[in-house]
Amino acid sequence: MKIKPGWDVDVVRRIRQRFPDTPLMADANSAYTLADAPLLKQLDEFKLTMIEQPLAHDDIIDHAQLQAQLETPICLDECIRTAHHAEQAIRLKAGRIVNIKLGRVGGFGEAKRLHDVCQAAGIPVWCGGMLEAGIGRAHNIALATLPNFTLPGDVSASKRYWKRDIIVPEVETTPRGTIALTDAPGFGYEIDHDFLRHATVREEAAGAGQ
Ligand SMILES: [Mg+2]
Repeated sequence: MKIKPGWDVDVVRRIRQRFPDTPLMADANSAYTLADAPLLKQLDEFKLTMIEQPLAHDDIIDHAQLQAQLETPICLDECIRTAHHAEQAIRLKAGRIVNIKLGRVGGFGEAKRLHDVCQAAGIPVWCGGMLEAGIGRAHNIALATLPNFTLPGDVSASKRYWKRDIIVPEVETTPRGTIALTDAPGFGYEIDHDFLRHATVREEAAGAGQ
């Protein structure tokens, strides 16, 4: 769930009362400062899987100070844009989990390096989404197959956000919330070119040219 000042401890308490055994996580999207540490400490009693990015989007040092005061693991999201950022965060003990988003780190190369840095340090990762259509979603699914993605990701079914996706087959989730992988080559799905043409509002060409 998303939390922010005025929408945090009471909301999490009620959800925890309703779902006593369900793994829960809270994402603050940088809504707090270190001065809010006593308030964030109150969340410890709800045994959240993690609190994601409570402090500034470009901060690592304050997160380290906050993590030292919390039992709940901090998950770093916005402030980790490179594997080097993760190395620094790990050295400072700024968090115990990292959310890896392909769009945030600039692609597979950096995502894989980031994954490996975290794995070597015993920091589990999970795959966050940024409202991708099918092509991006398929890449998220591929990324999430790396071995250190041990926490549930938020890669969802195509129909969660789209009436019709631009890939075939569409991504479906099982009743357990899992996604069956395909062995198809490439990114594992076909682009629905007819529908993509139908949905296109602007075209630009890029390439090496002549
Ligand atoms: Mg987040």
